[in-house]
Order: sequence, then structure tokens, then C-alpha cells
Amino acid sequence: MFLRENTRAVSVGSVTIGGGAPISVQSMTNVLTHQKEACLRQIERLATAGADLVRLAVPGSEDTAVLKELVARSPVPLIADVHFQFERALEAVAAGVAKIRLNPGNITEPSKVKEVIRACADQGVAIRVGVNSGSIRARSGPSKEKDRQETLPKLMVEKISAYLDIFSACDFEQVVLSAKCSQVRQSVQVYRALAERFEFPLHLGFTAAGVLETGLVKNSLALGKLLAEGIGDTLRVSLTADPVEEVLAGKEILYNLGLRQRKEPEVIACPSCGRCRVDLTKVVREARIRLAQVQAAVRVAIMGCEVNGPGEAAEADYALCMGPKKALLYRNGQPVGASPFETMLDELIKLLNERSE
Ligand code: SF4
Repeated sequence: MFLRENTRAVSVGSVTIGGGAPISVQSMTNVLTHQKEACLRQIERLATAGADLVRLAVPGSEDTAVLKELVARSPVPLIADVHFQFERALEAVAAGVAKIRLNPGNITEPSKVKEVIRACADQGVAIRVGVNSGSIRARSGPSKEKDRQETLPKLMVEKISAYLDIFSACDFEQVVLSAKCSQVRQSVQVYRALAERFEFPLHLGFTAAGVLETGLVKNSLALGKLLAEGIGDTLRVSLTADPVEEVLAGKEILYNLGLRQRKEPEVIACPSCGRCRVDLTKVVREARIRLAQVQAAVRVAIMGCEVNGPGEAAEADYALCMGPKKALLYRNGQPVGASPFETMLDELIKLLNERSE
């Protein structure tokens, strides 16, 4: 496993992207930014789940108006996602965000782009030049699907390249690049082309990947392949789901590629069957989110019944097995207690925290 060491280092607040820095995981809020308290709660949930960076949409001035306070209260650096109106970028920079994202398909007037670049240079703010396949398609006009598939990666790289000319003219190098597609092959192609052509660090991601079940497959295939080739400096797993799932999935990809050392419990589970008396899918989802906050690199098995559960979970450090009326807790294969279903995760977390004390 190797990192693309020749990428430039870009500072995004306390996080470095590129230049051999650890690959960071980011996500994006999906509540209205101007609903400040709800937005802050989501930022905090994402940070607790392990997000290194959080991005927010700022479509209106009411959104940039709350950024200063969000920046002050956020536990991680914030990124403003700007489309269409360059004024939002200027307001976000003045509010103290660590990075902004510009779409070359939307803010095109060089004088406006330069004004934003100058503001970012003055404030030490990084810029992601992020193109996505939708905006390229919309402007390249109708064509046959096969032609689009073949030409899209090339068009995306050209679009970025032309946009970067404006940045070169301003001697601005705190730049991260992304080119998001909705197809795995195209994503791999376009990011490989970007990695060959530019030294700027790359933000890996997908556009319109879909719901958890299908989106995870697409993201894992494309991001996993690129990361295994040493391409990618930061990532967002894009899912139509609770954004906390994006963070957990992003970290899981890095763990499984050996690019990040696991610090929280790994949760494994049985597939469940007619012997299980609880909604195991729901239990496991909740466990993944809650255990992400526990500092203990152990394996936790959540098993649907007491018939096969204890045996199948024997290799785990901790196990929770659903009995007829209670959940049974195990440590290193030995029973250590039982708990009502309602409180079993609290009991498990207590046990884990006792271990790490
Ligand atoms: S552990 Fe129990 S519930 Fe889970 S798959 Fe095996 S038999 Fe079924």
C-alpha cells in the first residue's frame, strides 16, 4: 500500500490534505444550514462518528450569516459548498470557514473567480475545484450514451484544467481537486487522469451513488480501487442516508485497506434468521453508530440468538447474543451478564469503557 506522495499539502484548518498526510474522511450536512442549532447538532454527530471535516451547503445569505458561529462552535474545520453565486463564497471566507468548494460549471466568470481566490489567499482558506458529471453533461449537449461514457472523463479533466488556469494566474496553490461521476468505471478513469496530470491532492467521491445498500457497493468499488492504487487524499462516501453512515463507511474503507488504524470497535453480526426475536438490523445499525464513540480497538459480535450465537461469536472480544427475553453479554467467550433488550447497548458500552479505563 502506498500514498501518492507527490501531492501538494493543502491546509484546511487543523487538517492537512495531501503531501503524505493521513487520508481524511469528510461528510456533508443535510439539514438547512441556517437552522443553526440543528446544523450544529449534525456537525457534532458527524465529528463524534469520526469525520475529520464537515461540509455545508450555503445557497443563501441566510446560510452564510450563521457560518461565523458554526465555525466557532464546530469541533472540526468546516467547508462551505458554493454554487452559482460567488458572493456566498466571499461571505463564507469572511465567516472563517477553512475551505470552500467551487464548481467550475457554475461560477465561470474569471473576474469573479479571481476575487474569490484573492479573498481565500488573504484568509488562508483552501479551495476545492469540484466538477461533477451532471454539470458537464448538461453543457455538453445531447449525445449517444456510449459516446458520453467515453468522453465524459476527458471533458471533466479539461474543464478542471481550464479552470485551474485562473488559479495559476493568481499563484494560488491551496487547491484540492475532485471529479465526481455516478459510474464506477468513469470515476476510476477520471481520477487516474487527474492523478497523472496534476500534483494537487484529490478529494475522492461519487455523485448520486444512491441509498445505503447500492451506494456502499459503488463507493467501495471506486474509492477502494483508487485508494489501493495510491490515489486519493481525502474522501467522502456519498449516500442517500444519514450522513453519519457516510463517515462510518469512509473509515471502514480506510481500515480495510490498511490506510488507517482502527481505534473504535469493529462490529460484526450474524445475518439473522427465524430464531432471532429482535430487529437485528436496527440493533446493529444503532450499535455501529454508538460504538464509534468508544475508544477500544476490539471486535464486537452481535448475534441473533443464544443457540448458535455464543459459539459463532467465540472469536470476538465481546459479544451480545439475543436470548428469549434478554440479551446475554460475553467477554472473551465467557458469559459476563445479561441485560433487557432496551438497555443492552448501554451495558455493552459500559463494559467496553471499563476495559479502556
Ligand atoms: S446466530 Fe442465531 S439468529 Fe443469527 S443466524 Fe445464527 S442461528 Fe440465526
